[in-house]
Amino acid sequence: MKTMAAAGLVPAALAEDGKLDIRIVRLKLRHTWTTTMSSSDYRDTLHVHYTRDGITGIGEGAPIARYKESAASGKQALEPFAAGLVTADPWHFDKTLTELFAALKGNYAAKAAVDIAVMDWVGRRLDVPLYRYYGLDPKDAPLTTFSIGIDTPEITKQKVREAAPFPILKIKVGLDSDEATIAAVREVTGKPLRVDANEGWTDKEAAIRKIEWLAKNGVEFIEQPMPAAMLEETRWLRDRSELPIIADEAVLRTADIPKLAEAYDGVNVKLDKCGGLREAYRIIQMARALGLKTMLGCMISSSVAVTAAAHLSPLVDYADLDGNLLISNDPYRGVLVEDGTLVLPTGPGLGLEPA
Ligand code: MG
Repeated sequence: MKTMAAAGLVPAALAEDGKLDIRIVRLKLRHTWTTTMSSSDYRDTLHVHYTRDGITGIGEGAPIARYKESAASGKQALEPFAAGLVTADPWHFDKTLTELFAALKGNYAAKAAVDIAVMDWVGRRLDVPLYRYYGLDPKDAPLTTFSIGIDTPEITKQKVREAAPFPILKIKVGLDSDEATIAAVREVTGKPLRVDANEGWTDKEAAIRKIEWLAKNGVEFIEQPMPAAMLEETRWLRDRSELPIIADEAVLRTADIPKLAEAYDGVNVKLDKCGGLREAYRIIQMARALGLKTMLGCMISSSVAVTAAAHLSPLVDYADLDGNLLISNDPYRGVLVEDGTLVLPTGPGLGLEPA
């Protein structure tokens, strides 16, 4: 892509206007966040500002440690492509991003940050909100869950009380304390629950017993009960499970979906995992075509990445788009949640405003 500018294919005036700013933003967490994978008080995400024709699109990607990504490595990997991105014809964005994705290995959070920034720019330049660009009705946006991380029963109960405005909760499990966690939640609320084991169960016989117990406790579905690599065991589980089984860590790209359809009932799509809006849209359409349930999830991030996902949410069955609600220093205001309903901003592109 650098060669496009070097070959003189781009008018100099366009090149002068183009700018790609890549920065790392440290987001502070309201509560220490614990899953089976990690525990922390802050998260660093990658923010990209893409400026053309005097209009700036904003994007964000949250690097996922499981896939050996970090904000620093994403920034470093993306920088060599900045000149090519801001000199290519902005209306050839699909071709330009496809070339970038082929040339930049891994680093899906960086890819997501660029993809979202470019699509925000496209929406702003066309003066339409992204949900309209995709032909979606914002009133079809599903309810979002609010996630409760793994903690002691006392703190779990306190978090569930604080989540009172949300009609559905997502509970993280995957440790020996799972039954105590659900029992603590049930002491406080009778709301529907969705449960995420984050690959925490490795024995299929034990997993089916846990699922039977969860089904009796008002749980709607179980997300990634077993490790992503245990596809055969997950198929065995799916054949016996009363609850739908949703893939998360197992689903990365569109090409993964046909084989996952043999072992799961649905897929959790995250822009940070797949590289942004374009690939997320393709995954959702492929999954729907194969009869799978679809879900949009997110990482802990600011309103940039969460709002981007929310613009696609009218397409999906389930949403877990609460990552921006878990931080105390969000630089932007975008999608809002009213009694669990996602309310999409109506401004052009992502529709972000300063916080
Ligand atoms: Mg998950």
